[in-house]
Amino acid sequence: MLSNYHTHTSRCCHASGADSDYIAAAISSGYSVLGFSDHCPWPFTDWFSIRVRMHWSELPDYINSIHTLRDSNRTALTVLCGLECEYFPNHISTLRYMSSLTDYLILGQHYDTTAPSCAFVGDTADLSMSRKYIDQCVSGLSTGLFSYLAHPDMFLLPYNEFTPTLASLCRELCRAARELSIPLEFNLYGLRKQTKSPWLGYPSGLGYPCHAFWRIAAEENCTAIIGVDAHSPDALRDPELPLLASMYLNALNITLVDHI
Ligand SMILES: [Zn+2]
Ligand SMILES: [Zn+2]
Repeated sequence: MLSNYHTHTSRCCHASGADSDYIAAAISSGYSVLGFSDHCPWPFTDWFSIRVRMHWSELPDYINSIHTLRDSNRTALTVLCGLECEYFPNHISTLRYMSSLTDYLILGQHYDTTAPSCAFVGDTADLSMSRKYIDQCVSGLSTGLFSYLAHPDMFLLPYNEFTPTLASLCRELCRAARELSIPLEFNLYGLRKQTKSPWLGYPSGLGYPCHAFWRIAAEENCTAIIGVDAHSPDALRDPELPLLASMYLNALNITLVDHI
């Protein structure tokens, strides 16, 4: 049985389809659990808040919509309402509030700050930026608020070469996740983007999921969870991709978690 806890909605401005279309796609592809985890809104209304996420005022509609779909599809599918959030220590009270409203949170550390000048983790092959990314992920996971770490290897995306310094950053992150018993996500959105890179202007670096990262995750006895990271209902209509991903992780002897 398939499960997926990483599903977006059109509210984030870079995903498409009605909420109900994601449900229909999941049911027709044989999913037993579909968790929505759209990009979390923030209660301030500046550039950071509105760029790639729902507006704060849309949060009640998001939760109501997912709860309504949960109730009307109970016999076919378990539907959960979560959020994908960055971790910023000065906004911990907002994150706690988000946790109280939802079934679960996942950590997706896409940006380094909430300032207009913030940097996207996947854009810059810069070691100080990567150092900060690891620290923010480890601190975020340590709060106990997050059920798993989304696309942990996203920071490798812009690098062209997997250096010993990058390897040690990966190992540090993997060790922390294992010590906290938090699964690492094998992200299928990143995998799909890799296959399209020449035509979409996608960065030509290591990309994610990155084999070198997952070899280290295996050495460190990490657990993994497969996340579709659906930004369109069609992403859920390809049940072969999670199957291939699970075969890949099995071959690395990584224990797969399909339930949070
Ligand atoms: Zn997204
Ligand atoms: Zn993400």
